[in-house]
Amino acid sequence: SYTTRLDRFISQHSDYSIADTRLLLAQRRIMLDGAVADSVQQAVTKLTHVELDGVCLQSRQPVYLALHKPRGMVSATKDSKHPTVLDLVDHPRKDELHIAGRLDFNTTGLVLLTNDGAWSRRISLPQTKLPKTYEVTLSEPLNEAYVAAFQAGIEFAHEGITTLPARLEILSAHRARLSLVEGKYHQVKRMFGSFRNKVLALHRVSVGPVCLGGLEPGATRPIGASELAEVS
Ligand code: URA
Repeated sequence: SYTTRLDRFISQHSDYSIADTRLLLAQRRIMLDGAVADSVQQAVTKLTHVELDGVCLQSRQPVYLALHKPRGMVSATKDSKHPTVLDLVDHPRKDELHIAGRLDFNTTGLVLLTNDGAWSRRISLPQTKLPKTYEVTLSEPLNEAYVAAFQAGIEFAHEGITTLPARLEILSAHRARLSLVEGKYHQVKRMFGSFRNKVLALHRVSVGPVCLGGLEPGATRPIGASELAEVS
């Protein structure tokens, strides 16, 4: 999404010029996201709420969607060979949306879409400690050693990193529920790969407070205010 200087924005969205903006600021007539603007250089993005003399020049219209990604789709906005999750979205502000946390081609389940970059950054940051929960089906049987190893962290030697503590719950010999607070490249597959155990199916059921619930494969729904409040 674009970022522009306040004085340029004012000149493009009102009868005032770039030069007039200084006076408007001195007279405290411009509000950005509810606060009096004080510099011509302040950044205005698509998501900035701008008011001049109490009249809205641009309203903040953030969009937050949950989507059930089917197998065989790319988590990208564009791809030359395969359908993308954006192809499933029917929304008037679709062009503004980006994916907050990708899933692999054959991974299914919850994908979040938004035009709010600050929100998607917060979701992805490990410091936010937002659990992303997956249901995993494996080729080899599981045992308690996995639980301890995932809690301690798995070393990804190539990158010189150790995964943050992850919660593994064994559901049956070949099925488990795994919660991560980060999203390294192919993380789940690589964590089980360290045990030479192949992930046969991977399905994300939740990201923090947002759950897939009964959302059908390929369907989207708006994320509700109460779900959003828990990530803000
Ligand atoms: N970990 C993976 O390996 N793949 C995903 O799609 C998500 C997490």
